[in-house]
Amino acid sequence: MPTINIDGKDFHAETGETILEAARRNGFWIPTLCHHPALSEQASCRLCLVELDRGGWSQMVTSCCYPIRRDIKVRINSEAAVSARRGVMELLLARCPESPELRELARKMNVEGTPYPKVTEAQRNCVLCGLCVRVCAERIGRSAIGFAGRGVNRSVAAPFRMPSKDCIGCGACAAVCPVGTIKLRIHETEIEVSPFKSRMAIRRCSACGAPMSGEPHMKQLEEKTPAAKEYVGLCPDCRRKKSAAAFVPVGSKPVVPR
Ligand code: SF4
Repeated sequence: MPTINIDGKDFHAETGETILEAARRNGFWIPTLCHHPALSEQASCRLCLVELDRGGWSQMVTSCCYPIRRDIKVRINSEAAVSARRGVMELLLARCPESPELRELARKMNVEGTPYPKVTEAQRNCVLCGLCVRVCAERIGRSAIGFAGRGVNRSVAAPFRMPSKDCIGCGACAAVCPVGTIKLRIHETEIEVSPFKSRMAIRRCSACGAPMSGEPHMKQLEEKTPAAKEYVGLCPDCRRKKSAAAFVPVGSKPVVPR
């Protein structure tokens, strides 16, 4: 079992686990935007940089994708590591100046603003972390969105920047977006995945009428889970109420969550 020395203290690490995992397990905080435990690593945001001691010289590495295979020594809170992460945050703030989520993370890192010019309107408010692209491909199996363009024109979009026929309106991309840029917009009879322009019929809760998800997504869920069909058509609140009522012991009063 290798040892990881973090800021002068030794900890045991599992062979193959990343510096980020070992650090978090031992109570250290390293900021990240593009890391999600359910998805593959891409190391695209560069916010999790730490200083790896190479014995006589050091190197900045992204902690989310650096596997520990032997004893290593890292510095999370050295001047160089903190300064590198702050520099990355300043660049990200220029891309995403209006995101409350990013500004909150910047505040935690003691970064108050950015000296860099803001990016253009078309690129605004996306840090290109790729979480949405990965969740759509790896978990939903649709690959409805991907990276488009190069350099400063790089962005996430559906093919040809047109509404994608592969999008099922599941909302997973909106759920993982760390800067709150992807949104599900609810219209009278449709749901829109913004900014990808996909629109489809909306499914509402069969009990209370609350908007839930795109019709194609709900149909897919019903096909995959026929045994739970009666629950699939309910919103989380109504589902909880129904299951609470179903599991009441005979003779006792049902406890219905408010
Ligand atoms: S809402 Fe559409 S684009 Fe977003 S994850 Fe689901 S299928 Fe992919």
